[in-house]
Amino acid sequence: MGGFFGTVSNAPCVEDIYYGTDYHSHLGTRRGGMAMSGRDGVIKRRIHDISNTPFRTKFGAESLAVFENCTSGIGVISDDEDQPLVITSKFGTFAIVTVGKINNTAEILQQEMADGRAHLAEYSFSGEPNPSEVAAMLICRKSSIAEGIAHAQQVIDGSLSLLVLHEGAIYAARDFFGRTPVILGVRCDENGAVNARAVTMESSAFPNLDFETECELGPGEIRKITSSGTTVLKAPEKCMKICTFFWVYYGYPSSCYEGMNTESARYRNGASMADQDEEFKGSIDSVCGIPDSGIPHAIGYANRFGRPYHRAFVKYTPTWARSFMPPNQSMRERVAKMKLIPVESQIAGKKLLFCDDSIVRGTQLGDTVKRIYQKGAVEVHMRSSCPPLLYGCRFLNFSRSRNEHELAARQAISELEGTAELTPEILKKYQIHGSKEYIAMVNIIRKKLNFTTLKFQELDRLLEAIGIPKENLCTYCWNGCDPSLCGKNKEGK
Ligand code: SF4
Repeated sequence: MGGFFGTVSNAPCVEDIYYGTDYHSHLGTRRGGMAMSGRDGVIKRRIHDISNTPFRTKFGAESLAVFENCTSGIGVISDDEDQPLVITSKFGTFAIVTVGKINNTAEILQQEMADGRAHLAEYSFSGEPNPSEVAAMLICRKSSIAEGIAHAQQVIDGSLSLLVLHEGAIYAARDFFGRTPVILGVRCDENGAVNARAVTMESSAFPNLDFETECELGPGEIRKITSSGTTVLKAPEKCMKICTFFWVYYGYPSSCYEGMNTESARYRNGASMADQDEEFKGSIDSVCGIPDSGIPHAIGYANRFGRPYHRAFVKYTPTWARSFMPPNQSMRERVAKMKLIPVESQIAGKKLLFCDDSIVRGTQLGDTVKRIYQKGAVEVHMRSSCPPLLYGCRFLNFSRSRNEHELAARQAISELEGTAELTPEILKKYQIHGSKEYIAMVNIIRKKLNFTTLKFQELDRLLEAIGIPKENLCTYCWNGCDPSLCGKNKEGK
């Protein structure tokens, strides 16, 4: 997916960009880049391959020396393309980083290139034009950077949050429906005077750099950030659909989005799942989380359930960095296995209840369960912290559900329906928690993955646990519903 960070400061700020960007490493696996400018406005840039080594180790003293004396900059961790791009344009030189997904690139290019006055040079890893370059091209079609960003937000189907570094200032924009958070922060000196401003996707990047969260951009909002303050260049839109998965899985535990902390939301969600499991209370020895993302849901579950939280698996963190990206599927599976080491004393002879953030394809989870039984578990109960995934994400490059035909729930439905052609009408029946179709689907997944019992959290209960108004959360993964798909344009007409 990716994440970005930017700073405008009264003093050289390379370390802010370096560490602030590094705190987004859990959001992307392939490229890390920084672009910075000094008081002369000249932009310098470095991009490194981070697929086998963490971001910080790639930016050694030599790389960072390039940015010496720079007082503003942007950085990005990216999954799918080289970033930041530095563009020479009618506005002068600017650097751009983006996070999101453009579904209608071909259509945009056809429209925007018809007059023969635009061209592209960069490609993403998927062989598509680089989305940041497409965004830059759209920005340059209008008479100001802010108008250009608003134009890009309007014509892009999907989502696009971005930072533009231009003449020492940063333009920050949140995507039209606010799928990704964009958070502003300030840092003050000992006299209380602001000495730097920052923008981030993860608020967890702030505390150790001494920034305080000032506010969050609303959906579609555009702001210009300078050392003297921020200016709203485009007011927020009314409809927000922030990605629910920030709280379920990929948001950092210490981060807050829309004022709601990720870790606390996961505890509440675990407790909510435990509330539905009264009948198992006497029979479970301990509650465990599938590392890492299942752990907070399991802690919340265990605390409410009144059974101890134990670690049946531990992750070998000293050498397995999260950003490590093996080149092929069999090696990825091998790495997934090598990272998790079973703790036999916590497994043998026990009836265990596990929480995981979600069940995607189920292959890795099935393998993990096999290992739990091999180590002597008597029963393995599984609780998924969100409902069965039925739709691949079409708004963010969210790798977990890229190929929707592989989703465990879809595979089960295909088996029940005797067809791989799953129409919305068919899928609708399986979305109803507790319907006979839903129960049959869950039972097939349970048998396939060899769980003693399997339950998925209800969508309404998950949204309630997150704690922001339900209508502001994207639920497309689970029910295929979204305002952007209602045949209306972005003005709602
Ligand atoms: S479809 Fe799913 S992953 Fe994509 S933005 Fe919506 S909730 Fe997030």
